[in-house]
Amino acid sequence: MDTLRGRLTALYATALALTLGLFAVILYISVRRSTYIELDRRIESEADLTAGILSGVYHAGGLVVQGEGQRGGGGLSLANELSASLAAVPDYLIITSARDSVLFLSADAREHTFAEVNQLLTIVTAAGGERREGTVAIQPSGPRLRYIVRRITDAGPDIGAVLAGAPSESVEVSLDRLLQTFVVVLPLGILLAWVVGSWIATRAVAPVNRIIDEAREITDGQSLHRRLPVPFGRDEMARLAETLNQMMSRLERSFAALRRFTAEASHELKTPLTVLRAGVERAITTAGLPLEALPPLEESLSEISRMTELVDALLTLARADEGEVPLHREPVDLKALVDDAKETGELLAEQAGVSMKAETPAEPVVIAVDGTRIRQLLLNLLTNAVKYTPPGGRVRLWMERENGRVKLGVSDTGIGIAPGDLPHIFDRFWRADSARTRTGERPGVGLGLAICKWIAEAHGGSIEVQSRPGRGTTFTVTLPATAPGAAPSPHPAAS
Ligand code: ADP
Repeated sequence: MDTLRGRLTALYATALALTLGLFAVILYISVRRSTYIELDRRIESEADLTAGILSGVYHAGGLVVQGEGQRGGGGLSLANELSASLAAVPDYLIITSARDSVLFLSADAREHTFAEVNQLLTIVTAAGGERREGTVAIQPSGPRLRYIVRRITDAGPDIGAVLAGAPSESVEVSLDRLLQTFVVVLPLGILLAWVVGSWIATRAVAPVNRIIDEAREITDGQSLHRRLPVPFGRDEMARLAETLNQMMSRLERSFAALRRFTAEASHELKTPLTVLRAGVERAITTAGLPLEALPPLEESLSEISRMTELVDALLTLARADEGEVPLHREPVDLKALVDDAKETGELLAEQAGVSMKAETPAEPVVIAVDGTRIRQLLLNLLTNAVKYTPPGGRVRLWMERENGRVKLGVSDTGIGIAPGDLPHIFDRFWRADSARTRTGERPGVGLGLAICKWIAEAHGGSIEVQSRPGRGTTFTVTLPATAPGAAPSPHPAAS
């Protein structure tokens, strides 16, 4: 239920289940009511029919009762012809005399014991002269009856009342069947609602998912020029895409302003830094400088160098973001470039007490690259390798060709990088805690790898890192053998 789609499906299914449930309850109640009304009408018409027959025969002068006994009382029974014609009336039919003794019992009523019939007679007696209807359960094991008692006044002095009744079981059975149908149909309905709801929800949130996917691709400052496609129409999705697009336009403007500011600020800082450096250098070499003035001046010089490095790196990245750093690609022998970087690396390694070796192919590898930038990249990696490898460690610079690509690598046996730090290693101004806390020992500003990444990607390549804390680090730069848009190499590299 974590997704909007899941919640919509659940809501839809719940709403439909409630609607179906309510519908089932209302249907059940109204079917039950109308079935009972129907049953009541049936027994009422049976009672009316019986009363009509009796009074018809009486008024026609026919025989209504027969047998011996006092007038209006015991010992009498209904005349045979009448009994025969009333036998056609279904259900329960009891005709009583004026003294509430039984004159006639229908076939259904005759199946009951004397005591059970007596129970029905007490209802007739209790009704007195009234018309009465209700439900009674024949004791001990008879059915539940819906009944109606009707006094008969125009069929002669011997006739008392008629009780017509019908078991309510038939009604209950059909209602039970209705309930069973609900038990089967309701879960099926809810299942169907879930499937349909899920389909509707998937269709409803599909545009949102598309917007999420597309917005996710515009994650860095470089892709802010891209815009989301606005769906046709004026619905919420179109407005959402438009709003996001407007937000990205504002972000793009802010990013551009920030980049311009960084580039301009770095550029403006370059001149005063050069002047400062020249001033401090001149002061250091001034004859007769008191000895105690030397350490602060040297410290200032090293800070000025650090700031110059920082400003240069900032300027490079800010201009690269603006797309203002053109790559001067030309066919370059990478082997020669690596050998050259190796020499600088050896000097650095020697100072740090680290051993250094290079492994390059025997023959030249010529591809179209910006030689100065690739050299900068290699030196950044070599400087780091030496910087983060304690004395006695080893640094290896290597190069190989693989599947139409060239791989340049710098491996060391240094302090390594914690797995949690690896995803941040190419972020700007990011430095591992181990590097920060020992800044004096390992100076840096945290922009070197960001520049390496930019150089590799600007050449259509990539840079990867593998590292184990305490065991060492390997940076691998992969470049396409012929960089995109590159001038064809006059000396195709030997494979
Ligand atoms: P810095 O100026 O701090 O060296 P980088 O961008 O070159 O900045 O490197 C960022 C961080 O990556 C460093 O501060 C350091 O923590 C880590 N790092 C880079 N290279 C290595 C390496 N060869 N071994 C261990 N850590 C490294």
